[in-house]
Amino acid sequence: MASNINAFEMAQRQFDGVADLLKLDPQVREILRWPLREYSFRIPVRMDDGTIKVFQGFRVQHNDARGPNKGGIRFHPAETLDTVRALATWMTWKCAVADIPLGGGKGGVICDPATLSVGEKERLCRGWVQQMWKNIGPRQDVPAPDVGTTPQMMGWMMDEYSRLSGEYTPGVITGKPLGGGGSLGRTEATGFGVIYTVREAMKHLGLDSSKCTASIQGFGNVAQYAAIGFIEFLKGKVVCVSCYDREDKTSYTYYKADGVDPRFLMSITDQYGSIDKAKAKAAGYTIEAGDAWLTKEVDVLIPAAIENQITAENVDKISSKVKIVAEGANGPVTPEADEVFKKRGIFDIPDFLCNAGGVTCSYFEGVQNDMNFYWTKEEVLEKLDTKMTQAFHGVLEMSQKEKVYMRDAAYMVAIARVVKAMELRGWI
Ligand code: GLU
Repeated sequence: MASNINAFEMAQRQFDGVADLLKLDPQVREILRWPLREYSFRIPVRMDDGTIKVFQGFRVQHNDARGPNKGGIRFHPAETLDTVRALATWMTWKCAVADIPLGGGKGGVICDPATLSVGEKERLCRGWVQQMWKNIGPRQDVPAPDVGTTPQMMGWMMDEYSRLSGEYTPGVITGKPLGGGGSLGRTEATGFGVIYTVREAMKHLGLDSSKCTASIQGFGNVAQYAAIGFIEFLKGKVVCVSCYDREDKTSYTYYKADGVDPRFLMSITDQYGSIDKAKAKAAGYTIEAGDAWLTKEVDVLIPAAIENQITAENVDKISSKVKIVAEGANGPVTPEADEVFKKRGIFDIPDFLCNAGGVTCSYFEGVQNDMNFYWTKEEVLEKLDTKMTQAFHGVLEMSQKEKVYMRDAAYMVAIARVVKAMELRGWI
């Protein structure tokens, strides 16, 4: 379903639109349109068969005016420097909109983690850190998991950094496993955060959440906990999720009119993220083409997979019943599709607000690492809810005050905070 829109051009176009609205100084604009630093490097890895394979790695640091760069590392076969640039830029806005004292960064490796053994993955993770360790750190740049990377990988990366720097340094990376410096609630944080913003949007629109239905694209970490949150917190019904099938090399939508059971689906999902089709069918799920999720007559659409999914080509397939689009993924809606949302009056919760729960919990993880004192899950989730709710209402207020769409309002809030930090530091 993905079209060929360059994600970084999309990030720049979104920024330019708001920079025009804000009449942003051209020099400030020039600083913020581009990442401040970019690293592109090769990672030689000894494979299990004794050969050496060289992987391409990236780290982009967009802006650290508000604090150390922050953002995940993706392991994805279609990774490019431009996608990493876009994602790093969105991290700057995400941390600013969530009002956490961090900047924006993102990393990547061109690879398909599902084709690597455990040992190969570990050596690739350690290799990434060997190339980057001088330029990351708790006060410089703090990576985290993203598409294709896991808490275990973060554990290896933290270990490699600690070994090279000669000091146990849990704060160099977040999303670590529990017992290895990780925070309770981090696994759930992004998906639950999505649902906290959906809850606030429903209150704003006067919708009764227990009567609402949702359709979710994806069944990775974000989609799984968004589905659980929609059902358990909002008492709503999720009629389908979609999922990439490794064997068939295509995506399917898993639909159940009386509501999917995300915990059951998680129990039949393999380690690479594919749902067992036979078991799903036996449990009464209808398996449909991958983009069927987009066409369902639901109140809420939650694209929670990857970028460029709702585009000019398919936006018209969205049912007239849809009232809210909650962007669990980064960059799932293209600017052309955005225009259609505006015309149709769909309430969009933009990505860098909607999915900010992950990085917010990462920030809490770093705080706990620094204190060497750990909170309970209830404490973490309560703090997360407070932060997400504040962020949502900050953006909503801006959108009402300036009479702009939620994405533009989120940019306005974020850009103003980053510009202020640059001023205070004497950069501009
Ligand atoms: N990869 C996640 C994101 O896109 C989390 C980043 C983090 O925790 O630093 O927001």
